Amino acid sequence: MGKLRRARLGVMGGSFNPIHLGHLFAADEVMHALSLEEIIFVTSPRPPFKEESEMLEAETRYLMVAMATATNPRFRVSRVEMDRPGTSYTVDTIEELRKKYPARSEFFFILGMDAARELASWKEPERLLELCSLAVVSRPGFSKRKAAEGLSPEGRELLGHQGVVFVESQGLDISSTEVRKRVKEGRPFRYLLPDPVARYIADRGIYR
Ligand code: NAP
Repeated sequence: MGKLRRARLGVMGGSFNPIHLGHLFAADEVMHALSLEEIIFVTSPRPPFKEESEMLEAETRYLMVAMATATNPRFRVSRVEMDRPGTSYTVDTIEELRKKYPARSEFFFILGMDAARELASWKEPERLLELCSLAVVSRPGFSKRKAAEGLSPEGRELLGHQGVVFVESQGLDISSTEVRKRVKEGRPFRYLLPDPVARYIADRGIYR
């Protein structure tokens, strides 16, 4: 049976500025809910909609992702976007990953609700949905219909696509913006991040 089974792989893409426990918890929830074998964390050096000035150097963000995921044997990191010039478009990333893994592999790109509601403005979203499924981490009771409220007809259609699956999770209310703000203001941030990442940020004076 092993050889015939299609490998089910999660891809967690992000700016990870920095990676925090909310990202890791969401990845773990999706891995469990969708019976995925592993999750590949892809750091985006130049994500499409993010302000350049607030973005920490990509190699440092990537390093923190590697530290954060090191103790979970089912979490991997990929340099697929790090080593590609230009804007980090997800459709290009999934296409590249598909070439690196056995042809029968099935990919699930993991994203939060805010990111999912912006899908219509992504590069080639329809083609992205041909290449992978999208696993949207949503609050409990948040239906597809509710998630699509206020979106353009194209946005609604994309969220309604059969390749978009909602994974309900209570989630951890942590954001990278809040972490950076806390570090800058000298407020506690240690327990929002995996220990090695929190220590690295404190020791190197990152985000101060
Ligand atoms: P990020 O801020 O580092 O977040 C990474 C992912 O984690 C996002 O999907 C985010 O969803 C989710 N997340 C953050 N905090 C969470 C929490 N506490 N609980 C559960 N989920 C949480 O990364 P980003 O800058 O938004 O980028 C996300 C990915 O989308 C990247 O791979 C980027 O390259 C890609 N992207 C691609 C295109 C394109 O191809 N055109 C356009 C935009 C983004 P929420 O933001 O919804 O919280």
